[in-house]
Amino acid sequence: MQFYVPCTQVEQKYYYHSYYENNKLTSVAIYSIMLHMSTLKELKKLENKRARLLSELQKTESMIRGTYVDAYRKCGKFNCWCAKEKKGHPIHQISWTKDGKSRSKAIPKEDIVWVKKMTGNYKKWRGIRTNLRKLEEEARFIINWVEEDIIQKTENLRKYF
Ligand SMILES: [Zn+2]
Repeated sequence: MQFYVPCTQVEQKYYYHSYYENNKLTSVAIYSIMLHMSTLKELKKLENKRARLLSELQKTESMIRGTYVDAYRKCGKFNCWCAKEKKGHPIHQISWTKDGKSRSKAIPKEDIVWVKKMTGNYKKWRGIRTNLRKLEEEARFIINWVEEDIIQKTENLRKYF
């Protein structure tokens, strides 16, 4: 998660770019003048990145929510070898979380490769969505900054502000 906190310090305006990195809140002060000079360039860059991410999303034709896991299960027959073993029979399954509950479904052996690919597509899809959200937050920050900058410059034209 990223968020931005505008802040004024001794006549010089700074923006603090705060974000979580490895669950630790990190802050970076961004000097406003540097931002101003690169504002348009930055917005254009974000726009290009966004377009690339959107075309990546459009390439996705199939995906499945969840992850592939190897698991072991006892069959329940008391005369089976697994009754004495810790793990039991190997089974292949896909597991996912829905409404806060973890769920799983057994899948046939011949579908392992397919399921791995499909869940991989899903993971990639989610990653792209996260990046899109970050870009949008960044763009919003820049636009907010430009708004504030233009208003201040305009107000400076009149003494009564
Ligand atoms: Zn068994």
